[in-house]
Amino acid sequence: MLRMSTLLLRTLRDDPADAEVASHKLLVRAGYVRRIAAGIYSWLPLGYITFRNIEKIVREEMDSAGFQEVHFPALLPREPYERTKRWEEYGGSLFRLKDRRGNDMLLGPTHEEMFTLMIKGEFASYKDLPISIYQIQTKYRDEARPRSGIIRGREFVMKDSYSFDIDDDGLAKSYENHRNAYISLFDRLGLKYNIVSAVSGAMGGSRSEEFLAPCSTGEDTYVLCPKCGYAANVEAMVTKVPEYSGEPAPAMKVFDSPNTPTIDSLVELLNANHGGGFEGSHTLKNVLLMADGKAISILVPGDREVDLKRVEANLPGVEELRLFEDEDFKKFPGLVKGYVGPQDAKSQGITVYADPRIVKGSHWITGANIREKHVMYVTHGRDFEVDGFIEAAEVRAGDLCPECATPVVIDRAIEIGHIFQLGRKYAEALDLTVLDKDGKARVVTMGSYGVGVSRAVAAIAEQSHDEIGLIWPREVAPADVHIVATGKDDLPFDTAEKLANDLESKGMRVMLDDRRDASPGVKFKDAELIGNPFIVIVGKALVEGKVELRNRRSGEKVEVALDGAVEEIISVVTAN
Ligand code: ATP
Ligand code: MG
Repeated sequence: MLRMSTLLLRTLRDDPADAEVASHKLLVRAGYVRRIAAGIYSWLPLGYITFRNIEKIVREEMDSAGFQEVHFPALLPREPYERTKRWEEYGGSLFRLKDRRGNDMLLGPTHEEMFTLMIKGEFASYKDLPISIYQIQTKYRDEARPRSGIIRGREFVMKDSYSFDIDDDGLAKSYENHRNAYISLFDRLGLKYNIVSAVSGAMGGSRSEEFLAPCSTGEDTYVLCPKCGYAANVEAMVTKVPEYSGEPAPAMKVFDSPNTPTIDSLVELLNANHGGGFEGSHTLKNVLLMADGKAISILVPGDREVDLKRVEANLPGVEELRLFEDEDFKKFPGLVKGYVGPQDAKSQGITVYADPRIVKGSHWITGANIREKHVMYVTHGRDFEVDGFIEAAEVRAGDLCPECATPVVIDRAIEIGHIFQLGRKYAEALDLTVLDKDGKARVVTMGSYGVGVSRAVAAIAEQSHDEIGLIWPREVAPADVHIVATGKDDLPFDTAEKLANDLESKGMRVMLDDRRDASPGVKFKDAELIGNPFIVIVGKALVEGKVELRNRRSGEKVEVALDGAVEEIISVVTAN
């Protein structure tokens, strides 16, 4: 039994100064977590009980899906990460350190390498596959912006699983098994979520989906079709545009356009000097980028910004992506800053990618590659060519669903899980093969699947709270019932004690506020802040032989006769 009189707990009336999101504020105020350093937190008893309840649900769902639990160290040698190139590729997010002999070590940000090597060390035949193994591990990532408390930690707990199969069909099945296990476990955690496509269909990559818990302060943005249910994160949203059906444009026409540094000023000039009806969407923006030292130009309609995260996600393999700087313009003297058009890009050695809206045959107003001049009727396929199409333009609410052409909505969320068909990348790098039926060595294909276990504590808090405190789903809560004894005499305290013992002996998890020195008001506030799903008040109503049972979520209160209270409380609690 958790006794408030002895519990390591000091609730706070005020929000911590560094907290921006509700879960962070409430978890600190209710005495669940304490900050040690940026993105590094310790758990107090209530927090750790809640965390372990979640961990237990995750473990049970993994076990019941037939996945086997293993455990790796967090402190790892460099060598396997060198072989997969991740020692370098992880960049600033990797915690690197040296041991006393000067060997490079790291704190694991994720464990693909280790799992691959474990299977390689034990198994050698297709008969050993398929297999899925998992661990619940502390991970380390030196996140650029650790914020939102435990939602984005630099030390955090992840459940990571990996599947190993002989072929793509096997991988598809393992992926589906994980997907189903995730659905059961997130349902049990009481989270609302959407399963969102994480790789752009246009790229044809292997399957990857994120489990996103909608939340107005979440860091992930995703697109949802209210009609057909299509859901994709913004990086993966696909733009479908009909073929060009307009008249072919007249020949290109260059015009003077001094003092038009912005699309708006260009449109204004067009409407003033060339007849009305011009809009930003008739113009073509050329955004110049450096991708690993190579110059690329991204063409988007002038009324849209380029979303660099979308570009990055859709240019696989590129490590460093940045906007052109003055230095870069110097290297390409043919480019006239502010008046760039795609017409001469090829001869200048620039790779051109176009947003799918720049369909073949469409014509645009764009820079003439001459100072203070623009040009109209510049036609794709006649006056310029592109090296490829890319999802690069910002996504907006109201853009059309690629499946059913309904305007989509945009929402924010917290990523709580991610499932991903990895394929053979790690198996190839670490030489994981098994012998197939014909005795031939075959590279194994893998999936990787993650759940943010510590993040889930905050994600649930984020979705389930009100202005006075946390409201936990029962399986996650520190206790099923929070009993509050009030008054000056022994009677309420003795009665509460007996009720608590009786409930506990019947399998209920009980928290008892047996503090003699705290006022009823303080006790009620604490109970509401802490957020157990039911509160029982043993106080005033005792003279009538009754206690009060409150539902923390609905606020509903009922009086329950003390005689038979145990059964009554259990039936209400378990019905929820
Ligand atoms: P994010 O986009 O939020 O940085 P990620 O895509 O890098 O996450 P994965 O590598 O897919 O994360 O990790 C699997 C899961 O681990 C995520 O879905 C998330 O729930 C959790 N997770 C990732 N980074 C953190 C972190 N810094 N703190 C807490 N949980 C995290
Ligand atoms: Mg992810």
